[in-house]
Amino acid sequence: MRHDLNMTAGDELHEECGVFGMYDFDHGDVASTIYYGLFALQHRGQESCGIAVSDTAGPKGKVNAYKGMGLCNEVFTPEILEGLHGNIGVGHVRYSTAGSSTRENAQPLVLNYIKGTLALAHNGNLVNAPDLRRELEYSGAIFQTTIDSEVIAYHIARERVKTSSVEEAVAGAMKKIVGAYSLVVMSPRKMIGARDPFGFKPLCIGKRDNAYILVSESCALDTIGAEFVRDVKPGEIVTITKDGIASDTRLCFQDRSREARCVFEYIYFARPDSVFDGVSVYQARILAGRALAVDSPVEADLVVGVPESGNGAALGYSMESQIPYGTAFVKNSYVGRTFIKPKQSSRESAVRIKLNVLKEAVAGKRVIMIDDSIVRGTTSALIVGILREAGAKEVHVRISAPPFLHPCYFGTDIPSEDQLIAHGRTVQEICDMIGADSLSFLRQERLTEMAQGLPICTACFSGEYPIQPPEEDIRGEYAQ
Ligand code: SF4
Repeated sequence: MRHDLNMTAGDELHEECGVFGMYDFDHGDVASTIYYGLFALQHRGQESCGIAVSDTAGPKGKVNAYKGMGLCNEVFTPEILEGLHGNIGVGHVRYSTAGSSTRENAQPLVLNYIKGTLALAHNGNLVNAPDLRRELEYSGAIFQTTIDSEVIAYHIARERVKTSSVEEAVAGAMKKIVGAYSLVVMSPRKMIGARDPFGFKPLCIGKRDNAYILVSESCALDTIGAEFVRDVKPGEIVTITKDGIASDTRLCFQDRSREARCVFEYIYFARPDSVFDGVSVYQARILAGRALAVDSPVEADLVVGVPESGNGAALGYSMESQIPYGTAFVKNSYVGRTFIKPKQSSRESAVRIKLNVLKEAVAGKRVIMIDDSIVRGTTSALIVGILREAGAKEVHVRISAPPFLHPCYFGTDIPSEDQLIAHGRTVQEICDMIGADSLSFLRQERLTEMAQGLPICTACFSGEYPIQPPEEDIRGEYAQ
C-alpha cells in the first residue's frame, strides 16, 4: 500500500482501522492467530493495535487485553501473546481520523457493565458521534477515550439492559448511530459482527476448522489459512455461537441502491489480494487502468505504477494500450512509526528515502506514470522530478481516481477543500504544478464500472454525500 510511501508532510491518506475477531469452538487459544490476522491488516492502521481475548468456558466477564502504540510487531512479543489465553477474541489496528493518537484511544475497547463484559473493535466514523456523546454525558456517562467506538459501546451496553440478548442490543444501538461502521463485538459467549446499512467499510466471515473469523479484508483469511465464507451484508448483524451463524437483516436497506461502499477501498486502501462484496480489488484496479488507457491515451515507451496501489492500474493501462509495463521504482518498506522523518530543510527528501528509481529502466524513455490519487500534489511533483532526474524523456501522469474535491466524513483523512490541489484548479494547472508533460484523471462515470455496478460512495470526488455531512467538523486532528 502507498500509506507508508507518501511521506511528504501531510500528503498521505490513511484508512482508519482494521478489525479481526475469532471464536474457536474447540477451545484453542486465538491470540496468536489474531496477531497474524492483524499483521495482514497492518496497511489499514499503523498507529496502535490491540487484542482482547476471553475464555467462553471460564468465568463470565474475564477479559485479557493488551494494546499499545505502534505496529503489531512493535507492540506484541511472544511472551505477551502467550499470556493472552482465551478461545474468543477481537483485535484491531488503528490510524486516528477522529480522536487523537494516544494509548487510551487504542482498541479493542473493553467495557465492564451490569450484564458482564463487552470488547469492541470498530472501523469507520460516525457522523452523529458528537451529539450522541453529549447526550450520554448529560445523562452521567464518563468517557475514557475520545473515539466514536466508545459511544457505540455505551449504546450497546445501555440497550443490553433493556433487551434479551447482546445482538438485540447491537441492533438497538445501530438504530441510533449514523455513519460508517464495521464492528466486531465480543460478549462472554458470542461474537457479533455488524456493518452499517450503507456498507461503507468492508467486513467478511471466514472459517478455519472449528473456528469462525470476522475480518475487515479477506486477505487476512488467506494469511491464517482460513476459507472465505461470505461478506457481511450492509446493515446485517451476524451472531456467531456454537450453533452456527445467525443473521439479522432487519436494518438492511430495502432499496439496495442506497448502499454506498467506499470506492476508495478499491482504488487505494485495500490490499490487491482482497475481495469485497464479490469484487476483486486487483481486478478493480486493472479495470481502472484499462479505462484510463481508453479515455486518456498517449504515445509512450513504458507504463509504470507508483507502488503499491498504482501497480494494478499500470498493468491494466499496459494491457489496453499495448505499451510495455515495467518496474521503475524500488521501495524501502522498513519504515515503522518510530522512523525519524527528515526535517523540512533536510536534503534527504522523505520520498527519496522510501523510493528510488531504476535509472536503466526509464532513461531516454517516454514514461506513463500511474498513481492512485493526488492529494496536495507535493508527492506527485517529487516523484515526477525523480523520474526526470533519472533521464525520463517525458513523464505523463495518469491517476486511477477522479480528482479529490471534497472532504470525507466516513473515516478517510481527506483534508479540507482548501488543501486539495484539485480544488479550484484546472487539470492543466495541476499538471504544471507537478511538472508533468500531461495529466489525466479517471472519469467519475468509470467508478461504477470499476466496482462492477455495486452501489458506491463517491462523495470525495462528486460532493454527493450518501449521508448529510455533519455541521460540526468531526474529522479529528488530520483535518486541521
Ligand atoms: S467520501 Fe470518498 S473516501 Fe470517504 S467513504 Fe466516500 S468514497 Fe470513501
